[in-house]
Amino acid sequence: MIKIDQYFDPAGWQKFTQAAEGRETPFLVVDLNRIKIKYNEMVNLFPTAKIHYAMKASPAVEVINLLADLGSNFDCASVYELDRVLDSGVDASRISYGNTIKKAKDVKYAYDKGVRLYATDSEADLKNIAEFAPGSNIFVRILVEGSDTAEWPLSRKFGCHPNMAIDLLIQAHELGLVPYGISFHVGSQQRDVAAWDDALAKVKYMFDWMLNEEHIKLQMINLGGGFPANYLSEVNPIQVYAEEVKRYLSEDYNEDDMPEIILEPGRSLVGGSGVLVSDVILISRKSQTDLKRWVYTDVGLFQGLIETLGEAIKYPIYTPKMETSTSQGTVVLAGPTCDSADIMYEETGYQLPQELEIGDKIFWLTTGAYTNSYSSVEFNGFPPLDVVYVD
Ligand SMILES: *Cc1c(COP(=O)(O)O)cnc(C)c1O
Repeated sequence: MIKIDQYFDPAGWQKFTQAAEGRETPFLVVDLNRIKIKYNEMVNLFPTAKIHYAMKASPAVEVINLLADLGSNFDCASVYELDRVLDSGVDASRISYGNTIKKAKDVKYAYDKGVRLYATDSEADLKNIAEFAPGSNIFVRILVEGSDTAEWPLSRKFGCHPNMAIDLLIQAHELGLVPYGISFHVGSQQRDVAAWDDALAKVKYMFDWMLNEEHIKLQMINLGGGFPANYLSEVNPIQVYAEEVKRYLSEDYNEDDMPEIILEPGRSLVGGSGVLVSDVILISRKSQTDLKRWVYTDVGLFQGLIETLGEAIKYPIYTPKMETSTSQGTVVLAGPTCDSADIMYEETGYQLPQELEIGDKIFWLTTGAYTNSYSSVEFNGFPPLDVVYVD
């Protein structure tokens, strides 16, 4: 069982409990101030990098406005996210279109709105960009290792082999686009810092090849996301990630020749800002002698906890009775819908107090990323997740 002071100081925790007071569960409380602290920390750790917030982690207007005011850039996954960030008054020069899967008409839409920085990983998409976003800056996403040490891997679907990426950069040049740089994503919640080392070695090889063989000087490396949030499993502090990544870069490039660096944090910026508050609906056992209790809460995979699929992301779970409990036992945690996939944790072996009762509150910590945007619209008739913002 966790202790709440591992995650919050008393004043920080009080903000969440105050916002939760008297409100109908389930809902997510987001402390915007915690996002601000994380953003400033990232800027201090990478003072020369450009931060493009990966909007999909939490595309809420409140979060976008905050980061826009702090000077962040944005990476959008769709024209809908693009509209959202433009509506917040962010100039198109601060926005990249990082999704490699997009319709030709969406490329045109983004270009008409002023976006000039596009990711790609295929010839068909590149040709669309050449036609509908002429002259734009292109970065090609490469496939990298790291899926076995990332808790939410993003492998296979995105990126291409470095040799193909080189072909695409050459083709971009021939099509009148600017072959601007290379991107990768080592997988979300990446526990192994060395994953960036492997990826950057591939990038260095490509930079050298393009210069020596094609006389094209690439200008930018996009290191993607993957930086961790504070879940149950142990990770290095973000400072260690920053030190190591900067060391890999300085081994490959001289100071006066350092490419522009883009970072696309999502989870690490907003994860720690959220606490999902739920009630226990039912506690039962499957037989008289069953050692495990089944604890059903009024949140589940369809109210924002989709990243518990395969028990991938292990959220810290807190209930006030942990402070006084004298005995704990293993539980299975499941959601409220009539879908048997709606089980959050069965194998992980979460421990909750034996004193837990129906109607008690369960707090899901570190739920600021990939929760509200993933919540279903009306599966089983349940409404989308309610969100409260505090600062
Ligand atoms: C999802 C995504 C990110 C954010 O990744 P995190 O691990 O949440 O930081 C960054 N870049 C791209 C292209 C993404 O698709």
